[in-house]
Amino acid sequence: MKPSPASLVILPLLLTAAAHAQPADAPPEPPPIILKAARLFDGKGDAVKTGVAVLVSGDRIAAMGSVATLEKAAPGAKIIDLGDVTLLPGLIDAHTHIMSTGRDDDYALHLIKESVVTRAIGATARARAALLSGFTSLRDVESEGAMYADADLAAAIDSGVVPGPRLQVATRGLAPTGGYLPDDIAWDVMVPTGAQIADGPDALRQAVREQISHGARWIKIYADFSMYLTTNPARPLRSMPNFTGDELAAIVDEAHRHGVKVAAHAMGWDGIDAALKAGVDSIEHGNGLTEDLAGRMVAKGVALVPTVTPWVEAAKKPVANPRLQKVIDLGKAAVARAAKRGVRIANGSDAGSYPWENGLAGEIVALVDYGLTPAQALRAATSVAGSLLDRRCPPERAECEREAVGVIAPRSFADLIAVEGDPVKDIKALTKVRWVMKGGVVYKE
Ligand SMILES: [Zn+2]
Repeated sequence: MKPSPASLVILPLLLTAAAHAQPADAPPEPPPIILKAARLFDGKGDAVKTGVAVLVSGDRIAAMGSVATLEKAAPGAKIIDLGDVTLLPGLIDAHTHIMSTGRDDDYALHLIKESVVTRAIGATARARAALLSGFTSLRDVESEGAMYADADLAAAIDSGVVPGPRLQVATRGLAPTGGYLPDDIAWDVMVPTGAQIADGPDALRQAVREQISHGARWIKIYADFSMYLTTNPARPLRSMPNFTGDELAAIVDEAHRHGVKVAAHAMGWDGIDAALKAGVDSIEHGNGLTEDLAGRMVAKGVALVPTVTPWVEAAKKPVANPRLQKVIDLGKAAVARAAKRGVRIANGSDAGSYPWENGLAGEIVALVDYGLTPAQALRAATSVAGSLLDRRCPPERAECEREAVGVIAPRSFADLIAVEGDPVKDIKALTKVRWVMKGGVVYKE
């Protein structure tokens, strides 16, 4: 049959429909959604916009614009009017320990008294609570002795068995002999270790391969462990690097070869210096950050995850030890220095080193107390942390399509939250999360 001009027009549409045809027994695709809210913060700039709605199709953001424009682009879309709230990207916490309650002061007892199964069960509740409080992505930087249970939880969340944030896990972490907790056990008592212990470049390469094969999306290393204060104002907090240069180079090379990034716990100048020399992707804590190190981080695009909350928690208790107070003060100065120098600062609470019940949003509020503007702190928890979570991947590889989170932009995941008030005016608005969507699915109405 000779097609009529009209059917010629329709033909490409039919072909498109056929290409996307669902199997007969699959549930029908949900209609696109237009999200309407009084205000919108897209995660990138300083501005809170008005009159901008978001079109969600499947698990992705399709477009932004006025409701009329989006209705024209997607006829039949369901409109959700969220009212007098600010819509923003789902929040990201880039430093958590979901396998730890944070409630037990004695790290070794925690490892002895709680089975990995018990810890994993608790972690499912913590994941759910984190999601409902507005955190749609977590970077969980080592399971503190719970082996690969974090990777199991990430898989359970991805397959919809339990609700929770997108979880990028570091599994076991890496330290050399004597380089991490517990560090106060009698030599003839066998206790599980908080991190995987390996020494020498070859053993560390093998450990990186093991962790990646069991689900690690990040390699977490303890670049230093013991530190000391000095009277030199140019380098007030120093440390003994845990690994040799050859060992660090092997870890980073092996991880990067697999497209996996490296997060380095580094407190003192020497640990940060060694980690930067080796080419890590983020510095965790960084209390000993100096001008020279901040400059090197900017030049290399390395992110700082300052984890302020443990210090805020420590400062609440009467500080008997003036040296601890000094380390806290240096941490505060490091955040201000990093912000001034333009270091990428990503939000990370270190929840699990203190109780999760305190909530994750407190870190973002604390970053403002430490000198960031509310918009900077919001970017730390959205676009900056989101770019940290991107895979290392050569752009010409097709399967490396950016798994964008932390921004309201076309093609990024439809991870969005709505808060009462305007968080750019008052950061505490983040503690009033009223609505949560992850991957186009509403988890909190
Ligand atoms: Zn930590």
